[in-house]
Amino acid sequence: MLVLGIESSCDETGVALYEMGSDGTGTLLGHALHSQIAMHREYGGVVPELASRDHIRRTVPLLRQALADCGRTLEQVDAIAYTQGPGLAGALLVGAAFAEGLATALGKPTVPLHHLEGHLLSPLLSASPPRFPFVALLVSGGHTQIMRVSGVGQYELLGETLDDAAGEAFDKTAKLLGLGYPGGPALARLAEGGKPGAVVFPRPMLHSGDLDFSFSGLKTAVLTYVRGKELDEQARADVCRGIQDAIVDVLVTKALAAVKKTGMQQLVVAGGVGANRELRRRLNAKAVKARIQVYYPELEFCTDNGAMIALAGALRLAAGAQAKAAGPIAIRPRWPLSELTL
Ligand code: ATP
Ligand code: MG
Ligand code: FE
Repeated sequence: MLVLGIESSCDETGVALYEMGSDGTGTLLGHALHSQIAMHREYGGVVPELASRDHIRRTVPLLRQALADCGRTLEQVDAIAYTQGPGLAGALLVGAAFAEGLATALGKPTVPLHHLEGHLLSPLLSASPPRFPFVALLVSGGHTQIMRVSGVGQYELLGETLDDAAGEAFDKTAKLLGLGYPGGPALARLAEGGKPGAVVFPRPMLHSGDLDFSFSGLKTAVLTYVRGKELDEQARADVCRGIQDAIVDVLVTKALAAVKKTGMQQLVVAGGVGANRELRRRLNAKAVKARIQVYYPELEFCTDNGAMIALAGALRLAAGAQAKAAGPIAIRPRWPLSELTL
């Protein structure tokens, strides 16, 4: 079964082809991605209308590229999976209209998907993937959640952020420091040269006893710290280090608390912040002590991509989900993952 996947929920256009064998083993055959980061950079954030227009421009060339990469044709595609939500309405509409239109022309069914399900399942694209059940720490630009994942379509929310997402905390504090857009990776790079403990920021909700997070206070703490100060290169690196350590500390503590609480042996980390090296270092060190395994997506599949959508579509179909007849377009810009069933 060959599944075409299309991602267009925000500022990345992704197209991929995933083949699921009858024995349940799958292969990512081809994938193509275009990031709009350079286009949005001069505005300091994603401009929704520009994002939609760019998805329109990119989808067909990316599809051609993904097909050419693996020597397949559209006629060989069995189903078209695409991101139905959550995300920017206009951006989602481009992918949904494209997928439903193409599927109608080909006489193939579609699989509308939840974007976070794609992130959540993305570590399964790795050479040594986790096995169900596992605990997942989903840390992206818009979400910070801890979930119990019992199988495809079986997601139980254990905790989440009460305000900003972890990625948002990285991006917003980076913006305060004038690090441009998107600030997360830039802040992480600077933090590498920072002295641990030189600047200490609060760890919100570290001891709240639940699995929830709160990151919005960090902006104010950083603003208060840097206001009126002339920071040299080292001092800026120290601030970045302080911010990163605060965020990572809370993420690691809560993720391990979730593993302990559920009695599971596997922790999966997904979403863009999962690319953070300090987060990986700290989690890996703790995992050895706690005798658990931690799994991450390949770096290129941490942020948005088509591969995770093609994979999620194929896994859903393999797990018995019904593909839908092509045609009607319905996007879901706001869509809690907890409402998802198989
Ligand atoms: P969502 O999936 O919740 O809709 P999104 O798709 O925008 O949000 P992702 O693409 O998964 O989010 O991740 C982007 C986020 O990851 C940004 O906030 C970015 O700053 C952050 N990020 C990427 N790399 C790093 C890194 N190395 N360190 C910290 N943050 C990072
Ligand atoms: Mg993005
Ligand atoms: Fe995402």
